[in-house]
Amino acid sequence: MWVCDDPSVMADDVDRETEAVREAVREVAERIEENKTHLTDLDSAIGDADHGANMSRGFGTIDEKLADLDDPDPATIVKTVGTTIISEVGGAAGPLYGGSIMSASTELSEGVTAETSVAFAEAYLEKLTDRGDARIGDKTMVDAVTPAVHTYKKSIEVDDLPPLEALAKAVDACERGVEYTVPLRARKGRASYLDWRSVGHQDPGATSTLIIAEAILDVAAAYLDGDVERDARDPAVITAEEKGMELAEAVEEAGEDPAEDAEGTEAE
Ligand code: ADP
Ligand code: MG
Repeated sequence: MWVCDDPSVMADDVDRETEAVREAVREVAERIEENKTHLTDLDSAIGDADHGANMSRGFGTIDEKLADLDDPDPATIVKTVGTTIISEVGGAAGPLYGGSIMSASTELSEGVTAETSVAFAEAYLEKLTDRGDARIGDKTMVDAVTPAVHTYKKSIEVDDLPPLEALAKAVDACERGVEYTVPLRARKGRASYLDWRSVGHQDPGATSTLIIAEAILDVAAAYLDGDVERDARDPAVITAEEKGMELAEAVEEAGEDPAEDAEGTEAE
């Protein structure tokens, strides 16, 4: 279990915790594989059409790497995920995902509890923004990770919710973050080369982040024996998304930045 209070069931819980982490890794790899074409399609619109292939290559190798480990604990499993992604996933996403996971894995050295999972999430976000230097609004995976991590931390530390409920809220926030990337103009990564033409497209890295978060939530729900309730979509996000689509169409027709036309200056 994720949170253990009873020392008499400690050994069983440790085994179950390790099993849950392994299962989460397996589930993530499976979902990435299922969504390979979708991720590549998103990357073909604003990148170089390799995000699905990159992620599938990396996550597809992890099981093999884990099989080589002798009785690993959760931190070692997660660290191995990070090092495998660094070595197998190319592009921008490989070092960002892999380096952040590897670095944050040390937070799980005492096991996976509400407290250590918050520390893991925060360390992951910190490393991601250190390495990639992207901030909220730059149309990258940071737009999905930031609201998820902040929501998870607040749900545990302020609202005192059980970890599964906190995780479900974090995944909702992550989904809104993904939707929020649609109307944005990319300022980091390959999509930034398209400048205004990146508006109206969903970011591939934010999308793979959501796929991973959803897989972790589903495995956590199975191991914690809980039902997962997810919020309905926020209407404000849908409106922003539709606005993004309209703007993208206008850019395509005009072949230039409509905001620049309207204001005479380039909005930053
Ligand atoms: P590449 O762009 O090198 O082909 P991928 O296609 O695998 O790499 O990954 C693209 C994703 O990486 C983007 O959708 C974006 O979410 C993410 N990304 C790119 N640059 C950055 C950055 N500086 N910080 C955070 N995320 C980034
Ligand atoms: Mg790419």
